[in-house]
Amino acid sequence: MITMTLDQCVHCGLCLSSCPTYQQTGVEMESPRGRLVLLELWTKDSEPHDAVEAQWLDDCLDCRACEAVCPAHVPTGHLVEEWRGHQAGSTPSLRLMRLLTFFLGSSKGLAWFQRFARWSQHPLGRFLVRRWLTWWPDSPARLQRGLPAHINRRLSRHRIASDPPQSHTAFLFVGCVMDTVYADTNQHTADLLRMAGFRVTVDPRQRCCGALHWHNGQPAQAQTWAQENIEAFEASGASVIVVNAAGCLSTLREYPELLRGTPWEARARHFSAAVRDALEVLSDEPLPHLSEQPTPVTIHDACHHVHAQGIFKESRILLQRAGYRIQEMANSTRCCGSAGIYNLTHPEMSQALLRDKIEGIPHGVDIISAANPGCLLHIQQGLVTQGKHVLAEHPIDLVWRAYRTAGYLPSMTTKEGGTARG
Ligand code: SF4
Ligand code: SF4
Repeated sequence: MITMTLDQCVHCGLCLSSCPTYQQTGVEMESPRGRLVLLELWTKDSEPHDAVEAQWLDDCLDCRACEAVCPAHVPTGHLVEEWRGHQAGSTPSLRLMRLLTFFLGSSKGLAWFQRFARWSQHPLGRFLVRRWLTWWPDSPARLQRGLPAHINRRLSRHRIASDPPQSHTAFLFVGCVMDTVYADTNQHTADLLRMAGFRVTVDPRQRCCGALHWHNGQPAQAQTWAQENIEAFEASGASVIVVNAAGCLSTLREYPELLRGTPWEARARHFSAAVRDALEVLSDEPLPHLSEQPTPVTIHDACHHVHAQGIFKESRILLQRAGYRIQEMANSTRCCGSAGIYNLTHPEMSQALLRDKIEGIPHGVDIISAANPGCLLHIQQGLVTQGKHVLAEHPIDLVWRAYRTAGYLPSMTTKEGGTARG
């Protein structure tokens, strides 16, 4: 059952102009206010859901933009997530979600995922994907266009270089998609943390944050991984858990909710209090100011940063300190349409939001920064598909490159470290 009361909503409509699905369709039931009405009906009604009503709910991006502006603090995104948990497997998109959680949820599945991604970057792989896309342009294979040019080996499995534990130790949370597709960004995060004076530990026992499982009807699996992550952190002696993916950050901070009422709740609170985003940590450190970089940058603010965590200024502070000139884009805080695997399950809405996002990039800017793997992959594939000469890059990679060029990171990177698409 939905655990929070729905009658908190006063129907003021202030959330409507923030909701991307309402803005695209103009349909009340595709708005936060409409979805709350549907959820209320669902909690009262013992009859099965109407398929159209279920679709209106399932179209929610869980971007939390409505939560950030709601004067009554109604957690609409959370409530829809909770509904999804109860509906797991009941619609085609939710069935696909379940398949992916199975695939991404194991170390072997991740290894195969990475092998496939690396293979798709080879000439034969590229050729076959291109042919495939001529037959089926909207297939999930289009995401291959968004992959970094070079996919490095997983930091958590092959390139672990933990420093001896000390009080100022950062536990680097490497994630699953970050570890498989953006392993260099994890390496760069470790390099910058060391430059800022931290010891860094990369514990191979850490697991996926559990977000996909938690919100798709498998909370027991998510709880098991949360417990393993808590144990790994406690054993590390670290004082802070550093995360560079907005989605994982949000989930790790919600562990007390995931483990509420279990013997782990107090430990989850301690864990959650130690979780910080890499942008938060590094923007608080007195890193040197660099002279101006030749390339201007625009910023896409990931939903789970700006709406769920209030993280907005940190990427700007850090990029400016590294010498980047920022040219703000239109609607930087609006969802790009990636939203976990929404871009696979809802291609039409997702592509419409992506088109708006790309249109908002200022003229003359050829880098868009995004601090979430899903956003990076989604935006980059859109840019390639539209033939735009713009790169989507993680702010950590941009900052790392600036300090490395300026000579601040001479011997801290591994031999394999490199810049995504650089
Ligand atoms: S969810 Fe919040 S902002 Fe939206 S109508 Fe209800 S009270 Fe108003
Ligand atoms: S979470 Fe996003 S898509 Fe869902 S109702 Fe709120 S604003 Fe709309």
